[in-house]
Amino acid sequence: MKQVYFTAGPAEMYPTFEKHLQDAVAQQLGSISHRSQKFRDIYRFTVEQLRTLMNIHESHAILFTGSASEIWERVVLNCVEHESFHLVNGSFSKKFFEYAVSLKKYAHKQEKLFGEGFDYAEVEVPEYAEVICVTHNETSSGVQMREPDIHKLKRSNSKKIIAVDMVSSAPYPDLDFSVVDTAFFSVQKAFGLPAGLGVWIVNERCLAKAEKLQKHEDLTIGGHNTLPMLWKNFKNFETPATPNVIGIYLLGKIAEDLNNIGVDTVRKQTEEKYKLLNKFVETSQNFTPSVVEERHRSRTVIVANTKLPSGEVIAEIKKSNMIVGSGYGPYKDTQIRIANFPAVSLEQVETLIQVLKKIDD
Ligand SMILES: *Cc1c(COP(=O)(O)O)cnc(C)c1O
Repeated sequence: MKQVYFTAGPAEMYPTFEKHLQDAVAQQLGSISHRSQKFRDIYRFTVEQLRTLMNIHESHAILFTGSASEIWERVVLNCVEHESFHLVNGSFSKKFFEYAVSLKKYAHKQEKLFGEGFDYAEVEVPEYAEVICVTHNETSSGVQMREPDIHKLKRSNSKKIIAVDMVSSAPYPDLDFSVVDTAFFSVQKAFGLPAGLGVWIVNERCLAKAEKLQKHEDLTIGGHNTLPMLWKNFKNFETPATPNVIGIYLLGKIAEDLNNIGVDTVRKQTEEKYKLLNKFVETSQNFTPSVVEERHRSRTVIVANTKLPSGEVIAEIKKSNMIVGSGYGPYKDTQIRIANFPAVSLEQVETLIQVLKKIDD
């Protein structure tokens, strides 16, 4: 029996995934050279579809890595000489901070309690921080930072680079890439694809910084996937190392499918489904929203406290062939997480809510 995955990544596959995968196999994409015109055409196509979908200007390159957490390291190595600054409001934003500490940078953080989010006005950016690292959607706690707040943060710190982790929300957030220097995601979240591909959107300012740092004698920007090397290859629609060709192909095809629906419609559908889930959680007997402030609640990963142990709730839902996630880390037993990605339909969300309602009774 097929399950519907409401997990936050790996997640439900996008409905057209299987067809595109069959096409990829029929085209023998697992065997083609990454120095061939066929590959360059695939890379170019995926870039074009992502530019349309997410309104990414020509000022930004679109680069491929192994994962999104790899990009945390790339951002720190390539864009931070001494100091970074991190808005920490959950486990993923904390890991981004910890990567910077491991790489021996002076990493500053402003931290919130689990379930609380940031507004622009309360953020205090350290004077010498070179990069501001924000997480649009904190997958562990279900907290979002709204796009206008991210844009204001950059506008009032225009000399600094802003890096946005949009791993578990892209393409939902409407980021303004005339403001945002760099952002990144991986494909096993809201794009509904198998894991194994990170996407790094990055502008010339970041490149210039990396080139400057590369000249320092007492500093390294790393050996693998340095920004100058990724960028140089990108200009030719190639990658330094052998890439996940099928992943890049599938991403282009799913982005095309989303473009055919239209990103505005995709966003509207996400909001509709969010409203149903949020309303249910707000009025439930067993569940309560884990994020108190509505404006900070993620639209793509709904986190709810549960009075019944999460294991019981998850097992009950599973009887109806639906999989929801447990809470993250220490919240494993007391919370559930429901991904609201484009791969799950309004009807599937309604079915899930029916089952959750039965648990409530
Ligand atoms: C999943 C996730 C990551 C890590 O992505 P990987 O592809 O597993 O490296 C980073 N940030 C956020 C917010 C995530 O949800």
